[in-house]
Amino acid sequence: MQDAKLIAKSHDAHRSVIALNDQVTVGGDELLIIGGPCSVESLEQMETIADRLGHQSIQALRGGVYKPRTSPYAFQGVGESGLAILDRVRRRYQLPVITEVMAIHQIEAIVAHADVLQVGSRNMQNFDLLKALGEIDRPVVLKRGLAATVQEFVMAAEYIASHGNTHVILCERGIRSFDNYTRNVLDLGAVVALKQLTHLPVIADPSHAAGKRELVASLARAAIAAGADGIMVECHPVPDESISDARQTLSLEAMADLVNSLRPIAAAVGRTMPMSQVAAQPAIA
Ligand code: PEP
Ligand code: MN
Repeated sequence: MQDAKLIAKSHDAHRSVIALNDQVTVGGDELLIIGGPCSVESLEQMETIADRLGHQSIQALRGGVYKPRTSPYAFQGVGESGLAILDRVRRRYQLPVITEVMAIHQIEAIVAHADVLQVGSRNMQNFDLLKALGEIDRPVVLKRGLAATVQEFVMAAEYIASHGNTHVILCERGIRSFDNYTRNVLDLGAVVALKQLTHLPVIADPSHAAGKRELVASLARAAIAAGADGIMVECHPVPDESISDARQTLSLEAMADLVNSLRPIAAAVGRTMPMSQVAAQPAIA
């Protein structure tokens, strides 16, 4: 990987630990588990997830409010009202929240209401967006493009770093193949390669790779065994009622079971899993 300067690994032990907020990090020995719905739908939905999974099973909450949908007629996300929901939930439960940024003009509002900005697969090579994210002081989860090579993925991360923000978390979310049994193919070879090539944390998203909920837990375990620094998984209080990506979305019980099933795998690969339980704060009026 000749061209990457800032994110290239200089020696074996070179790895960046990135803080999501003042309590949660990724890239150290402790694994990061991110859970939440594909789309933010309501305050009740997000509070139920935080209440039932927060801190014990998941350390960060995901949820899209601006949704990149294949069809312009499909639900496009609740928009700015969803940012207020994320802000409220992160304060009440002290959980960092992650949400997708689709355009430069959304950055300011997202920074004001969320902790981590996600660049979706479809925007991995939106270079103006990457440059703009290089100018902020917030962690960015960069998802691999649907058909991006490892080299293109690394250079997309280098764009953000070269504009001043080295807090980039790489996310392998599956790539296109000929086979439509799974939505995408989770490329664990890329997870291993990215850990060797860069010092950045690498997480895996088995939900968008699998496209089917019954495949998600096994792929999550495989990703941790392969050396991923964490996982991001879609879950919902009533998965079949998810407005987007219902077929790949886990119930909260299945999500908790998945996280428990990671414990022996984590131990086998020398990683730890957070166990802390922090009580919810009283609701903010
Ligand atoms: C998502 O995380 O909800 C999403 C749209 O993912 P991707 O960009 O990987 O398709
Ligand atoms: Mn989704």
